[in-house]
Amino acid sequence: MRKPKLSPAKSKIFSPKPTKIVVTAGPTRAFIDPVRYISNLSTGRMGYEIAAQAVRKRFDVTLISGPTYLKPIRGVRMIFIETVDELEESVIKEARSADILIMTAAVNDYVPVHVNKKKLRRKKGSMNLKLRRTNDIVARAAKLSPKPIIVGFSLETERLVAHSRAKLKKKNLDLIVGNEYSRFKNPFGENKPSVLIVNRNGKSYRLPKKSKKEIAKKVLSEAIALTA
Ligand code: C5P
Repeated sequence: MRKPKLSPAKSKIFSPKPTKIVVTAGPTRAFIDPVRYISNLSTGRMGYEIAAQAVRKRFDVTLISGPTYLKPIRGVRMIFIETVDELEESVIKEARSADILIMTAAVNDYVPVHVNKKKLRRKKGSMNLKLRRTNDIVARAAKLSPKPIIVGFSLETERLVAHSRAKLKKKNLDLIVGNEYSRFKNPFGENKPSVLIVNRNGKSYRLPKKSKKEIAKKVLSEAIALTA
């Protein structure tokens, strides 16, 4: 069951426990050997902006961050991770006491079965890399009891609406923010993406070409509305 009243800690008398928001940001790295990894283009910008807006609104904010070039945010509890396993451990631990979990992190869906202890040497011929599927962290967090309000982010190269709706359902999310990626639409870094927002009640709308700050504000207000 959800806790009934959630609000920022404006006064200790009226709100003894501030709403705890956990945000994940950036990429994860799947190591092949000590110096090589598989990763993605995520810069962490979206998650950092959400954490910054949330702390401005005086929420209790924890940011679990993959490797990025962004500066830690004052007033935010920062947890730095590198691999999917580290991300999973932190998310599950933090989500247990969270009211809202916002997963912007771009997680490795597959990681190498074997990680070489020494740097792989160049040999003749081709090389096979065997990969195994990782756990779906956000779907696992959605099985927690009590369950926080969960917001997922998705990046699609086709059928944005259908895929975003399907992920919302499959992962048992409360809200999903769909980003489109194509030659003409690149949502990474400082670009202004057009996103699709879908909530668990079926409400959906598009936010055309907004800055990440504007998207962050909207996502936060939508997530907070779902806690009521
Ligand atoms: O990669 P995918 O499109 O499925 O990501 C949708 C959401 O699921 C994102 O919020 C992402 O952080 C999360 N995810 C996860 N664990 C994975 C893959 C994705 O939590 N292994």
